[in-house]
Parts: sequence; C-alpha cells; structure tokens
Amino acid sequence: MNSRQGKALGLFGGTFDPLHIAHLRLAMEARETLGLDEVRFIPAGNPPLRNAPDCSPEHRLAMVERALADAPGYSVDASEVRNSANAAGPSYTVDTLERQRQQHGPRRPLVLLMGADAFARLETWHRWRDLFELAHIGVATRPGHTLKVGAGDTALDREYSARKGDSAAISGAAAGSIVAFAITSLEISATAIRRRLSDGLSIRYLVPDAVVDYIDEHQIYRTPHGH
Ligand code: ATP
Repeated sequence: MNSRQGKALGLFGGTFDPLHIAHLRLAMEARETLGLDEVRFIPAGNPPLRNAPDCSPEHRLAMVERALADAPGYSVDASEVRNSANAAGPSYTVDTLERQRQQHGPRRPLVLLMGADAFARLETWHRWRDLFELAHIGVATRPGHTLKVGAGDTALDREYSARKGDSAAISGAAAGSIVAFAITSLEISATAIRRRLSDGLSIRYLVPDAVVDYIDEHQIYRTPHGH
C-alpha cells in the first residue's frame, strides 16, 4: 500500500446512550483484527431510525469524550452532535461518511464499524448503497444477533455475497468491502444500562468509570421510563 494513502481509519457511529464497555471492546478488537490505525467514535446527532435517545446529544458526546480522553488510537468526532444543535433534521451516516471522505481524501481506507444487529437493518438506512462507495463496512458479532445475511436473496444478501472480504481487502482499497469479524461476546446493551439506572441499580463495570462519574455528576437517566 502506498503510505501516502494513510492507514485504515475506523469510524464508529452509535447513539452511545450511554457508551458501554462492549462499544469499547468492539473498537479495540476492530483495531487489532482489521488492522486499523485509529478508531473515531461518532456519536449520533438525531438518529433517524430509533426513538429519541434518553439524554441530550451533548451529554452523550461528553460521556464518549471523557471515556476516551488520553486513549491513544481513539478519537471522537463531534460533527453530528454539533449539526444536530444547528439543524432539526435527522443525521444520516451517508452524509457523515461524505464529510469524512472529503477530510481524508479519496485513497485512505475508511471502515464504518457496527454490530451485527445494526448491519441486519442496513437496507433501511438513507442511501444505504452509497455507503459502499464511501467506506468499507466492518461488522462485529453481537450476542443474540447471528449474521444471517448472505444466505437469502435480499438486496443486502446480494451485496454481502459480492463484497465479503477480509482485512487484506481493507488495506488494499479505500472502500467497498464488507468484513465480518468476531469480538469477545459481551451481552451488554445501552437499553439494559438505562433500565438499571432507572431501577436505582449500579452500572459500575458495565461502563467505564468516567461514564459512571459523569452520570452521577449530572444526574441523568434517573427517571423511570417505559423502555
Ligand atoms: P440500545 O440498547 O440503546 O439500542 P446499544 O447498546 O445497541 O444501544 P448503540 O449506541 O445503539 O448501543 O450501538 C452502537 C453500535 O455498537 C451498534 O452498531 C451496535 O450494533 C454496537 N453494539 C452495541 N452493543 C454491542 C455489543 N454488546 N456487542 C457488539 N456490538 C454492540
């Protein structure tokens, strides 16, 4: 690979409501397995395909920033949260990837990271086919969500069969492959963490200490809710 292309950059979007340790393991194991130079977390502004998050974009961003402060190889991109403060519209991953592509040039391998549950719903994403022009997709295993694509005949199955690759495909091209990778199974979800908080139970060791402290300091997620 021409070194001027730059090493592969992972882009990890999510609601992070709140960030938990399975998110961090996904990022770390993606770096190791896919040979990524860095993983950039991109907290969603206004996620279009789910209920409104429980706390503000600013709190969600701040928790990711605190958890990753001083962690070499990881960074945080605030652009979706910043845009959501200025415009009321939803934040689409394809727009975020277009911005990242502009920032890094046409040749740097970019890898959009997600769990198997998110990948299974990819066809519902705005301009989902354009994602492959802009980045590779790295799909991590997630307990309870088998990666079934490839077996059937949906549009996503067909894309998966045509684009299935490995870490060599990532270093060899800027975009276009789908690479599934296994990570340590952690049956943790932000939904379960919010439920514990509203039930007054501890979330320590499920989330980084910095997130426990942030939630305590700001008294967020304390009200019972219907999730
Ligand atoms: P919620 O329970 O609110 O839906 P979540 O725990 O799934 O939240 P998100 O912020 O929606 O967290 O997830 C961001 C990304 O991380 C998604 O692509 C999701 O698939 C992945 N992810 C979240 N938790 C895990 C996990 N335990 N194992 C593997 N991937 C995960």
